[in-house]
Amino acid sequence: MVYAICATVPPSFAQFAGHQGFSYAPRGAISPFRHFMQADGAAMSETKHTKVLIIGSGPAGYTAGVYASRAMLEPVLVQGIEPGGQLTTTTEVENYPGFTEVQGPDLMIKMQEHAQAMGCEIIGDIITELNTDVRPFVAKGDSGTTYTADAVILATGARAKWLGLESEEKFKGFGVSACATCDGFFYRGQEIVVIGGGNTAVEEALFLTNFASKVTLIHRRDELRAEKILQDRLMKNDKIETLWFHTLEEVVGTEAPLGVTGVKVKNVKNGEVSEIPCAGVFVAIGHAPASELVKDSLETHNGGYVQVEPGTSKTSIPGIFAAGDLTDHVYRQAVTSAGMGCMAALDAERFLAENE
Ligand code: FAD
Ligand code: NAP
Repeated sequence: MVYAICATVPPSFAQFAGHQGFSYAPRGAISPFRHFMQADGAAMSETKHTKVLIIGSGPAGYTAGVYASRAMLEPVLVQGIEPGGQLTTTTEVENYPGFTEVQGPDLMIKMQEHAQAMGCEIIGDIITELNTDVRPFVAKGDSGTTYTADAVILATGARAKWLGLESEEKFKGFGVSACATCDGFFYRGQEIVVIGGGNTAVEEALFLTNFASKVTLIHRRDELRAEKILQDRLMKNDKIETLWFHTLEEVVGTEAPLGVTGVKVKNVKNGEVSEIPCAGVFVAIGHAPASELVKDSLETHNGGYVQVEPGTSKTSIPGIFAAGDLTDHVYRQAVTSAGMGCMAALDAERFLAENE
């Protein structure tokens, strides 16, 4: 079948993206992939059977692809709306073993090529439905293809929630981030603001004091959701200031080069707007796992993360495995996701051998 890269987006893709809660335009300048459909634009309506269907093309999905291919399971991997996953939205990655420094999109191309070289079939499509009540499992693709599979590996990741401000979008990757572990290092000796009041925001603020000269935690209330122990650490840290009852109104900065110089914040009590100088803005208002496909069929935890049996990738339904950020609200790193992708492929191989 001949595929073409579409510059425009079929409405069903956009609708699905909205339903998933993704921002629909994932940094087009960075990701080299886009949406695929038949060259003539017609919807596909074939049925495709595979022993292992991998849903998702981040580190977890591609690693599962490498291992499942080497187990001669001839896996099919469906990439989803963000081919390459979250790392295609960043620049330097400095903590993936084997790479002192690599661009996120380049690393993901290498992972895709690796999976393909081992024999994994990679398809540009989005799974819109997954029926886990029947055997083989049945997944519907947005392209019109129906996928049937003896085992499924879910690797659909999780996404940081964003405030939805135009200026936030503009400076993403140029001073606005949602990952302190990844980007904190770039703000050595500079002032930073963190938005949010949960565990993530407090942990990010504490972590960022390793680099920043000052961290201002901006929260819309005067009460934190974060655990008491984290709150104690926050209050005791001299480098952290808190700004209660404030929301982020706008990120301000320079055009050439694109960079952040401050934030405009609003006092929610009296509506007054003021400006705080800073070089970095970390939005930490929660993460949302992309578990829409299975939130009603699989056990979940912590607001939608897929529950796996500890130490394995086994979900509450035999034959369905889950890996990566989709299952993990704590570590959320490329290397941990890749490790879980490996576990899922090995678990799927064992499951298929036992059920032959
Ligand atoms: P993801 O990378 O989230 O990939 C999910 C995949 O699932 C995507 O390909 C998506 O298209 C697909 N998908 C979703 N729904 C569907 C569907 N319905 N049908 C088909 N496919 C679907 N980690 C590090 O270790 N180092 C870093 O430096 C680093 N920097 C980061 C910078 C940023 C800006 C961000 C946001 C994250 C960063 N991370 C970093 C975290 C890292 O990117 C994630 O931990 C990792 O990508 C998670 O991998 P994953 O495979 O679980 O899922
Ligand atoms: P969270 O607990 O949902 O907290 C999100 C925070 O962001 C809240 O303080 C919320 O404010 C604020 N917020 C949400 N939307 C906002 C908006 N539009 N504008 C301004 N502020 C907004 O998310 P999280 O901190 O990422 O934690 C998610 C889950 O992971 C939790 O279960 C948490 O316990 C867990 N987690 C655990 C650890 C750990 O165990 N070490 C670490 C990180 C996360 P309000 O308080 O006003 O609603």
